[in-house]
Amino acid sequence: MCSEAGLFPQVVLNCDSVLHRVGGIVLGSDLVNRNQLRSDFRKSLFWRVARWLLPCLVVCLCFVRANAGSYVVRRGDTLYGIARSHGVSIAALAERNGLSHSYHVYVGQRLDVPSRRTRRVPIPASVQRAIDRAHVRQGRWKYIVIHHSGVDEGTVAGMDRYHREVRHMENGIAYHFVIGDGHGMKDGEIAVCPRWTKQIDGGHLASEAQDHIALGICLVGNFDKHRPTHRQMRSLRGLVEALMARCHLTAAAIKTHKQINVIPTRCPGKYFPFKAFMKDLKADGER
Ligand SMILES: [Zn+2]
Repeated sequence: MCSEAGLFPQVVLNCDSVLHRVGGIVLGSDLVNRNQLRSDFRKSLFWRVARWLLPCLVVCLCFVRANAGSYVVRRGDTLYGIARSHGVSIAALAERNGLSHSYHVYVGQRLDVPSRRTRRVPIPASVQRAIDRAHVRQGRWKYIVIHHSGVDEGTVAGMDRYHREVRHMENGIAYHFVIGDGHGMKDGEIAVCPRWTKQIDGGHLASEAQDHIALGICLVGNFDKHRPTHRQMRSLRGLVEALMARCHLTAAAIKTHKQINVIPTRCPGKYFPFKAFMKDLKADGER
């Protein structure tokens, strides 16, 4: 009897069959070649493990191929369209294929498609459609600027009224997008404002020249008192990625109000996790 009998019943059968072949008589340990038994056991163990590992290996290879495949450019394709159809960021796709300084592709060109880890955080289809439908002029936008509203409750209608009536902005709400915090709007809800759909200047910065080239995203909340919600940050990530793709921008285009404004401001507040946000965005884009 093998010492492994309790763990590997099939090996017991092998051992028994060896004994049976010499006449069904237990001949004693001196007649049993223990090395042969060990060798049989090792072979048996090897094939048992291989039988399990092989299908796993095939599944893993299929998974990798499905997520990190290649694509041959067809007539009418654009890098933006290819990135979108594969659910990857245009920046990651361009970088993977050495197209950092040009998004031009040609028919028949084979592109490596990055793996799922570089895929964008999804945003609602209605928001994506609104981003796609806007007539974005090439090079129109240079920055994406992040703000907080400074109050913990807010709606697009309320901000629009305030900017028209108090700030006397004829185009209403100063931002291109607003992300709710669960008070007034749903937590993480993305609202697309008319300044995006009509592609008109923002009203969120102190400089008109900057407002001409900077998209504004406002997160409802006072981040001098607390952090944004997890859902707000996830929506911000998805929205920023979609806008970077649509406007052909890199992560360098993303700024806080405080970073870009020509006069001092605390916006978007001391608890807004900008460094962590950018670190994650860049890390995923570079994979
Ligand atoms: Zn601001």
